[in-house]
Amino acid sequence: MESVMHSEVDFNQNGKHCGYIRLPHSVHRSAYGWIPLPVASIKNGSGPKVVLSAGVHGDEYEGQIILNQLIRQLESEQISGQIIILPMANFPAAQAGLRTSPLDDLNLNRVFPGKAQGTPTEMIAHYMETVLMEEADYYIDIHSGGSSLEYLPVALYGESEWPDTQQRQQLVLDSLSLPYALDLSKDRAGWYTTSAAQRNGACAVTVELGGNGQVNSEHVVMFQESLRRVLSAVGCLNEKVAASEVETRYVTSSPELRVYAYADGLFEPLVKLGDEVAMGDLLAYLHDPSTPGSDPVAVLAGADGMVISYRVLAQVRRGDCLFELVA
Ligand SMILES: [Zn+2]
Repeated sequence: MESVMHSEVDFNQNGKHCGYIRLPHSVHRSAYGWIPLPVASIKNGSGPKVVLSAGVHGDEYEGQIILNQLIRQLESEQISGQIIILPMANFPAAQAGLRTSPLDDLNLNRVFPGKAQGTPTEMIAHYMETVLMEEADYYIDIHSGGSSLEYLPVALYGESEWPDTQQRQQLVLDSLSLPYALDLSKDRAGWYTTSAAQRNGACAVTVELGGNGQVNSEHVVMFQESLRRVLSAVGCLNEKVAASEVETRYVTSSPELRVYAYADGLFEPLVKLGDEVAMGDLLAYLHDPSTPGSDPVAVLAGADGMVISYRVLAQVRRGDCLFELVA
């Protein structure tokens, strides 16, 4: 089924064009209205097609700023090929500053391939996969820890069935030069933005930068440079960008490296981002002041690893992720 969404920006035209993708939304206060998804297309003849997105989770702000700056700074004469930029991919969620959309409570990064005539979030996913990512060569989705987590800068990548993507992926990871790169090949859920891009044959990478509901300027500056380095390396940006001195450490994840709360309570972390921990180490306490004088619950590491992200909110419930370790 074809999307009922419609772009004001003509993606076939050369030049830099900014505007909105219209997401039909008929509600009480606006019978024939649409939701405006901001978009930019920068195109100059032939060359690679690169799709960039941020705001897939509306409470992750670093990427929204980085992509808006990129739109402002880049002119079509500086590139070969095409860059399609979605700075606030799930616009209703980004407008509300929420991870999920307030319109349907859905997480855009868990609904691909979406539905042509579904809820707003499902329709955005369907449009991204069938229109924006069509024939894309490269896709980068910029995330962060959002409201509940904080991350060290890391590129998340996975294998694709397409033969040459591994080579292109290495080029992208080398050019990004983030401190960490995490192999997520084992996660085959297929409902992520990157799954959609891979189904289109693109080399797809997600990045995590900071979080905590804030904007870390160091991360913004660093990643603007990373992005320019990638665009240059893949032959899209017609200028050389200096190599980075950052050496990427390749790490892996596994279910036992995620540390979850098994009790409700107040979370007191005892380790910091970047700390190396060993199996059995005390990582945090969960306090329960509702039971006066009760002992705190000790949270222990289930495996050896390094803390790459941790929860920044003190209130936790059983099942919340407290730490993500990598090995
Ligand atoms: Zn995210």
